[in-house]
Amino acid sequence: MKKSDYTEPTDLFGFQNLYSIPQDDAYDFSELFTRLSQSEFRMRFHLSGKNKEYIRIKSIPTIRHHAKDFVARRLSPAVIPNDGKQTPMHGHPVFVAQHATGCCCRKCLMKWHHIPPGRELTIKEQQYIIAVLMEWIKRELKTDIDIQETATLP
Ligand SMILES: [Zn+2]
Repeated sequence: MKKSDYTEPTDLFGFQNLYSIPQDDAYDFSELFTRLSQSEFRMRFHLSGKNKEYIRIKSIPTIRHHAKDFVARRLSPAVIPNDGKQTPMHGHPVFVAQHATGCCCRKCLMKWHHIPPGRELTIKEQQYIIAVLMEWIKRELKTDIDIQETATLP
């Protein structure tokens, strides 16, 4: 799941040390994205022109903030009554990213990321999911730039 194994430093009061939370780019996603590329279902999801326009207007940090909020409210609780149906198939770019990366519900989180259902997600697990979603979004946007660059070649 991660490049290096993180130990969980706790302070005197037993709280998670927030400074130990890795940055988005601290993960190695090559294995995950290779696995995802082998799933016909996951590969069907792409950002629409409208999604990309929305990201451009809102900026990446804002989209990341939305991702953080969706993960905290829709994925993190131990019990999710509508699990499997909590993530719309389109609309917000983060929803699309969630389906594309197997971060749409707790069943898919188990299957694709080995994060078990039935308990609250830790801060680090939430951070990891956000990083996955942002990596997918950035790759989608990058593909676009690659196509444009190729198109302008003589
Ligand atoms: Zn799912």
